[in-house]
Amino acid sequence: MSYYTLAEGCPYARNDTSVQVRNGSGGGLVLLQDTQLIETLAHFSRERIPERVVHAKAAGAYGVFECTNDCTDITSASFLNKVGKKTDVLWRVSTVGPESGSADTTRDVHGWAMKFYTDEGNLDWVFNNTPVFFVRDPIKFPSLNRSHKRHPRTHRPDANMFWDFHVGNPEGIHELIHLFSDRGTPASLRHMNAYSGHTYKFTKEDGSFKYIKVHIKSQIGVKNLSTEEATRIAGENPDFLLQDVFDAIESGNYPTWNVYVQVMDPKEAETYKWNIFDMTKVWPHQDFPLRQIGKLTLNRNPQNYFTDIEQAAFSPSTMVPGWAPSADPMLQARMFAYPDAARYRLGTNYQMLPTNKAQAPVYCPFQRDGLMNFSNNYGDDPNYVGSSLRPTSFAVNSAGKGPASTITEHEKWVGEVSTFTSTLQHEDFEQARGLWNVLGREPGHQDRYIANVSSNVKNVTSKELREKVYYLYHCVDPKLGQRLKEATEAKV
Ligand code: NDP
Repeated sequence: MSYYTLAEGCPYARNDTSVQVRNGSGGGLVLLQDTQLIETLAHFSRERIPERVVHAKAAGAYGVFECTNDCTDITSASFLNKVGKKTDVLWRVSTVGPESGSADTTRDVHGWAMKFYTDEGNLDWVFNNTPVFFVRDPIKFPSLNRSHKRHPRTHRPDANMFWDFHVGNPEGIHELIHLFSDRGTPASLRHMNAYSGHTYKFTKEDGSFKYIKVHIKSQIGVKNLSTEEATRIAGENPDFLLQDVFDAIESGNYPTWNVYVQVMDPKEAETYKWNIFDMTKVWPHQDFPLRQIGKLTLNRNPQNYFTDIEQAAFSPSTMVPGWAPSADPMLQARMFAYPDAARYRLGTNYQMLPTNKAQAPVYCPFQRDGLMNFSNNYGDDPNYVGSSLRPTSFAVNSAGKGPASTITEHEKWVGEVSTFTSTLQHEDFEQARGLWNVLGREPGHQDRYIANVSSNVKNVTSKELREKVYYLYHCVDPKLGQRLKEATEAKV
């Protein structure tokens, strides 16, 4: 277009001046009839939508997922039904605690979200760059995040609050080993691995299923910043990780990852030594080796950050046939909380926004109207079930069956209603110890870990609380507890 208009289309001669009643060449009174001025000011005040309460600072891009291995023995998911099949994806990777304007090299867990625009609707993966999490009971999720964010009085991150939460909720020790290891400060998002954390299910049309965990591994390997580098870069370029991935894609150096699953038969789950619905635990590789399913390539930057990335909404409840939830309580709670956050942040009809819209056909006439509805709203189609005017009808496949459900119908549950215990358990330290030993395989890594934690714990003002932190680490390994105490007390 060769000229500007108002938002309703009226051509406007000048966009750089308000209409004024002037006296000579000086300034004058502005007029209420200057619609351009009023709209400009009013819209500016409303440009911000609520920032995500967690995962606010993020990079985003588009790419493609390619199925590389035959998966038809474990899932009927359409995007995995043929080797070589490609599915468009949206990718968004974030820090968790700090705000949208914060430095992205700050030590933190990194969220890893993907939206697969499959031919059977959208599938969202809402993962992290660590294979475990701090808590296994969803009621603790807001508390965990508050303890990592700003103190209610000082409005600063607060070591007392952080460690008070963790000594009181020690099931997070495994994740704390990840957080303060070298992987807490990735050198780039291209050099980062990611994990489903939760157990999910691959399902088949015959009603059978397997439990799975997903692993996404960088093809260029894992690389991290030292704490000193991360701190320096945070001051010099707070958008360092965003810039790195944007520039790489822009120059055609497309980031790539291999995607794997660990597969467990439901029978094995019943007797396996770990509760597979506990998000603080991994499945050891030697028990459940990785099996490749695909490859991810990022190949296009967003055209507009707000439209493509800020308005993107991801939820573990966005699923396709062949992929299903497990009974992990954290996962079940996230399936409610994420769409709820999107409804608050973006509005009732967030699924219509271009970045969230399925590329597969959508027919959902029971979800209509609502604020900012910019669809045809299903015209005069019945908006109630059981209509004789438009009877319930399913497309039927060659076996005479309708579309597959994402719920595995033969999964049976029998149990008692009770509170879910999250209290200190001996086993919570076993895998944390395993990871501590993994760090020990790499020269200097355990030393760096102790330096990282002690630099943080030294800010805990209560000696009693510091002692509790040393005890937490003592339970992982008495030598670790002792070394941490010595290193910290020398800095206090
Ligand atoms: P393995 O010895 O078979 O594998 C250890 C895994 O740890 C590696 O495959 C690697 O996974 C990951 N790893 C290597 N170095 C680091 C590091 N510096 N920081 C974090 N992770 C690292 O061990 P197990 O499977 O028996 O697990 C032992 C411990 O390893 C666990 O307690 C767990 O915390 C950690 N781990 C296990 C994973 C799993 O799913 N089994 C995944 C990641 C970590 P990768 O190549 O995926 O990065």
